[in-house]
Amino acid sequence: MNKHMTEFEEVVLELPGEVDDEVAGDIEKESVFVSPGIERIRVNADHKTARIFVRPGASVDDVMGKARRYLDVMAKQLSGFEIKVFVETRRRDRGPYQADVNEGLVQRGWMHDYGKGQVAYSGPVLRLVKLINDRAGELYGKAFDAKDGHFPAMIDADTLHKCGYFDSHPNAVTFVGNIIEDIDALEEFRLANSCSEGAHMPPHDHVHIDGMCLNPAACFPCYPTLTGRTVDGEAYSWLGRVFRYESRNIRGLDRLYEFNVRELVFVGSEDYVRACRAKALPIVEELAAMVDIDCKVQTATDPFFATVSAAKKFWQAAQEVKNEIKIPALGADGEVKQLACGSINLHGNFFGKRFDIKGSDGEPAQTGCVGLGIERWVLACFTQHGFEPSRWPKDVAAKIFA
Ligand SMILES: [Zn+2]
Repeated sequence: MNKHMTEFEEVVLELPGEVDDEVAGDIEKESVFVSPGIERIRVNADHKTARIFVRPGASVDDVMGKARRYLDVMAKQLSGFEIKVFVETRRRDRGPYQADVNEGLVQRGWMHDYGKGQVAYSGPVLRLVKLINDRAGELYGKAFDAKDGHFPAMIDADTLHKCGYFDSHPNAVTFVGNIIEDIDALEEFRLANSCSEGAHMPPHDHVHIDGMCLNPAACFPCYPTLTGRTVDGEAYSWLGRVFRYESRNIRGLDRLYEFNVRELVFVGSEDYVRACRAKALPIVEELAAMVDIDCKVQTATDPFFATVSAAKKFWQAAQEVKNEIKIPALGADGEVKQLACGSINLHGNFFGKRFDIKGSDGEPAQTGCVGLGIERWVLACFTQHGFEPSRWPKDVAAKIFA
């Protein structure tokens, strides 16, 4: 136990039932969003109880009500389905997994960590990012005749609302704020910052949020561009910039606030969309083989934030419609953990209906998408091969360590 943990009051709560490792991990991760009075929630080794770390000054009664509600919903929404594995690759490199990859990349000058969930990178990291992104783009082009595109990093709230994002992940949304159009408010802000040490933020009533957000899921900005159209079997691919607010969970390349996703969206009939998903699996396999990593594609387990109603419906279908790419890496504690490095999704006609996109039969079109979290792939590659070029596949090493 960390020394600084001792300043928190610890309260033990019973979970509604026994949870598995995966659910325990999700409960701990999302616990930063439960209450300002809760530092963390940890699931005990028995997987039946959890410890709530209450911050000094917080009302324990208040905080426990929220913790109980949260645990109840999280444990229920995630329980009771079986994980199916669709693809599994094994690396040829027999060397051990590399610990402290983030620190190693920073030490070598290949990465700069700003400390708030953004990183800058160059050298081998940048070249590996490009290699994975370019190869994925090439394979998508070949297999799906995917058209290249570009989409903005900001997205309006109405689009996010239409996409159902506020219902599923309200905790991850980032709104863009601006100073109100008022000469006094602007002057006050300017003066406060003119010779200050560090930035002074404007007061809340001098900031307006007009519904621009930072895009939290790569595929969303694609759908409004198809509104009113009839789409009969088309695929689009691009590198998207994605933002998910992670509160205190940020950590190196493991959990960024801002990251890049190589996205593929396919739109058309149900047969077309299902065929696209089937073709996406061997592409993930090929990418994993290119960089020689252990990797799995399996039933998804990422939770909705503390809502049973939205989540239940979702999970009933989830085994069928959402698969996750899991790549082993090392956690902060040095234990192997399964890093979610992307997903393969079928959306049915959800986006077709919401954005008025039709298939050739005049009915709302079906859609699906594949997203690859590029920075996590990079983290997984360095974890599985370390910093010594000889452990990497020859052609990859020649390209990235050149
Ligand atoms: Zn998507």
